[in-house]
Amino acid sequence: MSATRRCYACGSRETGLVARCSCGEALWLETDADSFDWNDVIDAPGMWRYESLLPVSAPDGLFAAAGGTPLVREPSLDAFAGARVHLKVEGGNPTGSFKDRGSALGLAVLQADGREEPAVDAVGTVSHGNMAISTSAYAAASGLPCVVLVPEDIPESRLETISQFDPTVLRVAGDYGRLYERTLEIGPARDIAFLNSDVPLRVEGQKTTALEICESFAPDAPDAIVVPTSSGGHFSGIWKALRELESAGVLADVPRLYAVQAAASAPIAEAYDRGASEVSRVERGETVAYSIGNPDPPSGTRALAAIEDTDGAAVGLEDPEILEAQRTLASEAGLSVEASSATALAGIRRLVDAGEIDSSDDVVAVTTGTGLTDHLGSGSADLVEIEALEDRLAAFRDD
Ligand SMILES: *Cc1c(COP(=O)(O)O)cnc(C)c1O
Ligand SMILES: [Zn+2]
Repeated sequence: MSATRRCYACGSRETGLVARCSCGEALWLETDADSFDWNDVIDAPGMWRYESLLPVSAPDGLFAAAGGTPLVREPSLDAFAGARVHLKVEGGNPTGSFKDRGSALGLAVLQADGREEPAVDAVGTVSHGNMAISTSAYAAASGLPCVVLVPEDIPESRLETISQFDPTVLRVAGDYGRLYERTLEIGPARDIAFLNSDVPLRVEGQKTTALEICESFAPDAPDAIVVPTSSGGHFSGIWKALRELESAGVLADVPRLYAVQAAASAPIAEAYDRGASEVSRVERGETVAYSIGNPDPPSGTRALAAIEDTDGAAVGLEDPEILEAQRTLASEAGLSVEASSATALAGIRRLVDAGEIDSSDDVVAVTTGTGLTDHLGSGSADLVEIEALEDRLAAFRDD
């Protein structure tokens, strides 16, 4: 198992539990994919099928349930989106989001025998949402202590969801972006592996989203993949997978990668619009898409490089269009996703309008997390006496 990290930007190599290159950019694991072939995919559960591209093989228990999510063609959404829609349903992961891929891979590597990684006996993360839930769950499955650093003003319902896995939860006062980078400095010195959004181990697990998508389409490839993007960690992993498949020569065409954000906090989309090659911090605005509201994304610049490399784009979406897409996913396709994930469908519609995506394109919307744990705040139901039920059902049939 190789523990070498490499910088996508300057090519430098590092070893050990580092996340940042001396040039300031994010590192990822070095993978030699040149000889990979789809026949190398093994009969293992979930994301562990791509053993030859991963630094560790499948442990059992909860780990075996990470990834391997369905990719479904959903014609009922074509009219809304304006293209041929495929949904990658990440809500199928055990804790309801793609974060399980990175949590599972990270903890599997940290626990593997004979690893080159430095010994750590605790994990942590900086998150107030899905990553906190996911990291705590896989830490519980590993028996490793876990510390979760959340913002001061976290809603209590979110704390309850995280707490069921019994991590140490600390509310931290101060700048959240600085906290993210601070933990990457303090962690190694204290033997705590911080599995934050864009660290090499998390990105490595999250690349499997794209391996699965491409395997489903092989020998063809989708025209575009649309990804709700916050830190840029998942987007980076998806790009890494495409580069690996391309270097192996098993990708018919490289799909265009589109990063979709909430306009209220859209630093990657704003940098893209300016034609900048680096992402700068923006003001944080309020949005219904709270899982993707990062005003200072640690892998934003890497996401821009992925967009440039694949001829994609980035867009920021307004709350009303996000909510309309969320309702459409539920009412047309029967899929409940959180608002952040609905940006994928809203994004396709916008990109079709902008002429970026063609109506005949096969487009994968990565619906990153389930909406079943979201409190949508509305809903109503008539009360019917049991004696009146037959008439009421007759009326329902007549509707
Ligand atoms: C974390 C998350 C994202 C954003 O992923 P990044 O890797 O931070 O860009 C998008 N959607 C959902 C549901 C998430 O939990
Ligand atoms: Zn570098």
